[in-house]
Amino acid sequence: MLQIPCPWCGPRDEIEFAPRGPVASRPDPSTSSDLEWTTYLYQGANTRGWLREYWVHTHGCGQLFVVTRQTLTNEIASVEGLVIPASPLGKTKMILQVMAGCTVILTANHPVLKPVGVALLWLVVISAVASAAHYFQMFWSQINDRVQARRSRLGILESKEKAQDALLVKDTIR
Ligand SMILES: [Zn+2]
Repeated sequence: MLQIPCPWCGPRDEIEFAPRGPVASRPDPSTSSDLEWTTYLYQGANTRGWLREYWVHTHGCGQLFVVTRQTLTNEIASVEGLVIPASPLGKTKMILQVMAGCTVILTANHPVLKPVGVALLWLVVISAVASAAHYFQMFWSQINDRVQARRSRLGILESKEKAQDALLVKDTIR
């Protein structure tokens, strides 16, 4: 039985997982034709060789991840978890929340502390917005890295094809 190494749980039997299809770029719904959608949804390339595909650890952690698998031998070259590391700003936000909460509770008996409590609450709001912005910035940079890696791989393939075409032309001339 195929063993799939879940990035979070380690190697487990295939029956714990559900395949979610090859990693393919989705056509833009606003510009694509019905034919493009049908091709994307129902006519996979059925790759013979190395394939990057999504799997979900359904009977485990439930996480979605990418497996690079050789379809002929079921050899697995790599697994990639789709996670974004927590922003360090999140911890700052949590500390500020606790401080603001304590100060607001103390204002019941010490009204002098009210401006401090209000200031701390505003700092919580500011750090929450900064933390969210940082998170999305990391998210987009990760997506951008993946797209660029894919483009450069395609570029290498195209230049290989061009080199092979050039050789064929040479052979034909001879
Ligand atoms: Zn898992």
